Amino acid sequence: MTIDLSVFEADIIIDNETSDVLKLANQLKHTELSSCQIRIGSFFLQGKKGISKPLQYSHEDFQLLDGYHNYTFPIQEGEVELSLQLYENKNHHYRINCFSRCNDVSGQLFSMNLTTEKDTKGSIFFVQKIKFSERLEGHSEATKAFRRMKQQVFSGMLHKLGFDITETNDLFLGVYDTKTGTFLNTTPEKFISDFLMISLLKGHFMGNKGYQLEILPSYTLDPHWLLTTSDSLEDIFPEKIKNRKGNRTIPLSLRFKVLERDRCCKLCGRTPKDGVKLHVDHITPYSMGGATILENLQVLCGECNIGKSNKSSQKY
Ligand SMILES: [Zn+2]
Repeated sequence: MTIDLSVFEADIIIDNETSDVLKLANQLKHTELSSCQIRIGSFFLQGKKGISKPLQYSHEDFQLLDGYHNYTFPIQEGEVELSLQLYENKNHHYRINCFSRCNDVSGQLFSMNLTTEKDTKGSIFFVQKIKFSERLEGHSEATKAFRRMKQQVFSGMLHKLGFDITETNDLFLGVYDTKTGTFLNTTPEKFISDFLMISLLKGHFMGNKGYQLEILPSYTLDPHWLLTTSDSLEDIFPEKIKNRKGNRTIPLSLRFKVLERDRCCKLCGRTPKDGVKLHVDHITPYSMGGATILENLQVLCGECNIGKSNKSSQKY
């Protein structure tokens, strides 16, 4: 599966935006995760700050969050330790990353490059295609189908949880306006809690991180079962989605302009300060001929957007 960020036409941040990244890092560092809780729909995990020993991938000098966002959460199998890290990698790209350790298995759960766009005044975007990369040796077709199924199920789950995610599985998590030093579509606290929650869920779907969440069905694949079953792959896995082309995907610069113009949900008036995340939505749906232009786009909160898409049976 290829990584396709081209829909967003984003540039990865390099040296000259360093001071903006430091400003953002400083703000995230001084953000408290309320009561050390991660909420997943109506469930919540009550954690505590800190981890048993360092869980570090990058060089300390480049670790901009200073180990501040390290947490331990109890789960059925014991405890899962999470470390949120923002750092400059060897290629001078900034990256935000969540590492985990559970039952002596440690590794990376979820990461995003920090990106900028021409024409958006240096704002920093957090976007990432949801994808899985596990391999079943000698079973390339099954591997592809299984990755696709997990991608579909996980993306659908994130949509239902109120995230702004496109039909091509690109997750739009945040945009940080460097002029005002604020997120346009969320709050720093929500951003951190979302990143941790997505990482934890993704680790469940990856299936090789030493834990499974009991609130979700298992997505661990047994290759022996796959070899011995008489069902065809088409029967086992959901249909392949059509890779919809066209201009339904809203470019980052346009998202930025809509968020900057509207600032709140156009249906209920709420803002990130009221505890909602803001999405950018087609007023006349793309499926009904609505164009991806500023005039046909509006800001909706996650809740209003899901209500709307259920009615007009848009995504998922
Ligand atoms: Zn709303």
